[in-house]
Amino acid sequence: MQTIHMSDIYGQYLTMKAEIDAAIQEVIKSTRFIKSGKVLDFEAKLADYLNTNVVSCGNGTDALQLAFMALELKPGDEVITTPFSFVSTVEVLVLMGLKPVFVDVCPDTFNLDVKQIEKVITSKTKAILPVHLFGQCANMETILNVAKKHDLFVVEDACQALGTDFLFADGTKKKAGTIGHIGCNSFFPSKNLGAFGDGGAVYSDDTNLAEKIRSIANHGMKVKYEYERVGINSRLDSIQAAILEVKLKYIDKHIKARRTAARYYDEHLQNLPGITTPARSEFSTHTFHQYTIQVEERDALKTYLEAKGIPSMVYYPKALHLQEAYKNLGYQEGDFPVAERLAKTVLSLPMHTELDEGQMEYIVEAIRSFTQTS
Ligand SMILES: *Cc1c(COP(=O)(O)O)cnc(C)c1O
Repeated sequence: MQTIHMSDIYGQYLTMKAEIDAAIQEVIKSTRFIKSGKVLDFEAKLADYLNTNVVSCGNGTDALQLAFMALELKPGDEVITTPFSFVSTVEVLVLMGLKPVFVDVCPDTFNLDVKQIEKVITSKTKAILPVHLFGQCANMETILNVAKKHDLFVVEDACQALGTDFLFADGTKKKAGTIGHIGCNSFFPSKNLGAFGDGGAVYSDDTNLAEKIRSIANHGMKVKYEYERVGINSRLDSIQAAILEVKLKYIDKHIKARRTAARYYDEHLQNLPGITTPARSEFSTHTFHQYTIQVEERDALKTYLEAKGIPSMVYYPKALHLQEAYKNLGYQEGDFPVAERLAKTVLSLPMHTELDEGQMEYIVEAIRSFTQTS
């Protein structure tokens, strides 16, 4: 039995090794390391894939910060978001003096429960920040409608959903991150399009806004040594861009491989007692950044799998409103019952492009035998 990985970055690299190695060598030879060469090539190719403007940056957390800096919100302004996400989503808001206002999530898709958004809108609400968790879009059509009605910005945290399509009621579709005013992405190694280090990108259909974001990411510079606003230094480095440019060519193939694995899990797990397989939204495709089941005996199953050499992860074991760092937001246990329950029951299974049938059979057999003994 080969080792089963949660995310097989090295195995995937081997399938593209010659191209990636050559691309890295090209960067070294060119000495175009900063905001040039491969960085611009990759930005252009990603812009093409997504059909929007792309500004690359240092990581997904910076992407969120750049988005909110560009919107020029004032300290105390409120941003509606989810308590069931990675910490960056709320961290950036608090760092900037903005106030995260949480709304609970849907128990089946883990995404913002859009029915609850209007209830928390106040005169200080300025934006909605949906997260397309695990590779599936939040209900963007409703979010856009609510935002329009109340004159709010929509910033998408699309860090886990590169390549996902949102399907509008009229039959049109748009890629995750290109639906609201600004989209944010991460190229963290395990993400759908992962670098061999850090990387991120901000998207906007609004070309002026995209150029403003580009300036903010470059110290607020207008022309050389003229600064029109306060900015930060956030760059995608060119070696990462070279790697990403190669991997982007295979993104649809990689998404397909994740979907094949997800289908196998679905087929073999959906009838097991006590296991809930991930739901599919009617308005979004799924790119399976994670394949996340719900199970009452979550911790016991995790331990059981570990003993059989099968890794699994809990994304996320504690909702954001209950984190020590964010307790002064004033929330308490019981405020978001769905998110709190999910934190106790979710388990993400190995999910990557190199899973083979033998490995998957071994994983589902182990889960089956757990459900028969527990
Ligand atoms: C990964 C991730 C981020 C942050 O990305 P980094 O590149 O690690 O800074 C933000 N939000 C979500 C939902 C993520 O999954």
